[in-house]
Amino acid sequence: MAMIPVAKPMLDEREVEAVRRVVLSGWVTQGPEVAAFESEFAAFVGAEHACAVSNCTTALHLALKAVGVGPGDEVVTVSHSFIATANAVRYCGAVPVFVDIEEGGFNIDPARIEAAITPRTMAILCVHQLGMPCDLETIVAIGKKHSIPVVEDAACASGSEILWQGNWEKIGKPHGDVACFSFHPRKLLTTGDGGMLTTANAEYDAKFRLWRQHGMSVTDAVRHGSKQVIFERYPELGYNYRMTDMQAAIGRIQLERLPELIAARRRLAELYRRGLETVPGVEPPSEPSWARTNWQSYCVRLIDDGLDQLEVMQRLLDRGVSTRRGIMNSHREPAYADASTHHVSGSLANSEAAQERCIILPLFAQMTEADVATVIDELREACRLSPRQRPVAAAE
Ligand SMILES: *Cc1c(COP(=O)(O)O)cnc(C)c1O
Repeated sequence: MAMIPVAKPMLDEREVEAVRRVVLSGWVTQGPEVAAFESEFAAFVGAEHACAVSNCTTALHLALKAVGVGPGDEVVTVSHSFIATANAVRYCGAVPVFVDIEEGGFNIDPARIEAAITPRTMAILCVHQLGMPCDLETIVAIGKKHSIPVVEDAACASGSEILWQGNWEKIGKPHGDVACFSFHPRKLLTTGDGGMLTTANAEYDAKFRLWRQHGMSVTDAVRHGSKQVIFERYPELGYNYRMTDMQAAIGRIQLERLPELIAARRRLAELYRRGLETVPGVEPPSEPSWARTNWQSYCVRLIDDGLDQLEVMQRLLDRGVSTRRGIMNSHREPAYADASTHHVSGSLANSEAAQERCIILPLFAQMTEADVATVIDELREACRLSPRQRPVAAAE
């Protein structure tokens, strides 16, 4: 039986050729390809500055550090996200303050942010979960009102768009103070591993460039190209968060592919939406009128209490359809068992329900219409066969 995987990166000879060119050039770590990828990515999202790093987790660390998050500070964010979101706050010695997501959606509920703000709040870290833009207009307004910077975890959102003051703009312009992207193979644009920070703030960008390369005052590329001997200095503590030139070369090809990848996914998502009308008890994800998602993941919700998530997923797997459960909740993991690691503001009921009641269906650009039809048929059948054991309602 042919398996339909949950995701699949789009890579071919073009990426191979790009890497080959870099390998044979003799310059393989952060250099001219990284610089070119940064300027092309900046142009694509409409950002003034883009700084490439090793992954989105390191991007989040640097973004939070740049906006001033330090030991003892608090950062308002979600528990309902990949664990790297909350972990990055802890790398700064700060405490993530978890607020719930919107009912029926997957993004932070802006109406719950202000209640979580205290005199120690140094940032709001919002996530464009599954590629779907969060309500930035409201979140950025709250940040401005309280003079708190906004960092966007845009890990999944390469190419997603938001209606901003009447114009469609790419996520990462950025609309907050800094946006952080991931190029892991589960996202649309992949470099194997990789990340990008975008900002309009030249000082932040200079910090990112310093910190990603050990805090070294001169880059390898500048020293290499200099006619004069240069002795570098290390003005502050830095890290090795560099992207390699081989990764950047792949990224440049992937960036060229991105619009067509998004168009393919939006077509497939529309097929899913229509197909799901024939699957009782399962609700498709919805896109607000002010957002255009890249559909990094297509996450459906079991709204019939009788349907068991694990059983539906197992039946799909048995029939050759790979799925994943809804997004995790950091506060439920052993790494967050110690109460000192985080605070919870209010209830996280929507976050927990999304984890327990949602299923991510296969979605990737190479999927065919027939694949989507197969997934829909198998899902319908799995739901029909998998009612949770429940007392039979008394006949009326
Ligand atoms: C994937 C992901 C990350 C981590 O990205 P890496 O590049 O793997 O470090 C962070 N946040 C969210 C929301 C993600 O989906």
